[in-house]
Amino acid sequence: MDFKQHIKEVADYPKEGISFKDITSLMQDGEVYKKSVDELVAYARERGAELIAGPEARGFVVGCPAAYALELGFVPVRKEGKLPRETVRVSYGLEYGTDILTMHKDSIKPGQQVVILDDLLATGGTIEATIKMIEQLGGVVAGIGFLIELDGLGGRERLEGYDIFSLIRYE
Ligand code: IMP
Repeated sequence: MDFKQHIKEVADYPKEGISFKDITSLMQDGEVYKKSVDELVAYARERGAELIAGPEARGFVVGCPAAYALELGFVPVRKEGKLPRETVRVSYGLEYGTDILTMHKDSIKPGQQVVILDDLLATGGTIEATIKMIEQLGGVVAGIGFLIELDGLGGRERLEGYDIFSLIRYE
C-alpha cells in the first residue's frame, strides 16, 4: 500500500518555511489507518516488545491501537503536570526554549523490553527524552517505530545505536 499518498503536506505550517506532514488524512481512512498501525504492530512483535510507550498526543494515535492488537500494556509519555502519580522527568531542548516530559515511576519493570511508537521522527529530541526516562526506570528500548521519518534533520543520527523503523520517509 502506498501510505505516503494519504499524508497531506501543508506548506508554511505552523510557520513559514515548514512543510507540515498531516497524518489526520491517513487516520480518516479506516483501512489505511488500520494497515499502517498493522505495520507498526508487526515491527513491535518482531522486536520482542513486552510494553509499548508513546509520547503525547500523536504517539497515542499509533501506540494505543498497536498495544491493543498486541495485547500489551501502553505507557503514556506526557508533558509535565498531566500525570497524577509520582513521575520521572526529563527536560529537552526545543527550537525555542525547553519542554519537560514525564512518565509514571512505576510504569516499567526492570529489564522489560519496550518499543516506542510515535507519528513522526524529526530531530529526535522527543524520542531521546523518552529513551532517557525508560532507561532510568530500568527498561530496555528494543525498538522505535514511526509512521513518518523526515530525513536530514538528524533524528536517526541522534538515536544511533537504537533500532529504528519508519513506514514513510521524506527527503
Ligand atoms: P522531534 O522531537 O524533533 O523528532 O519532533 C517530533 C515530534 O514533533 C513528533 O512527535 C511530531 O508530533 C511533531 N512534528 C514535527 N514535525 C511534524 C510534522 O511535519 N507533522 C506532524 N508532526 C510533526
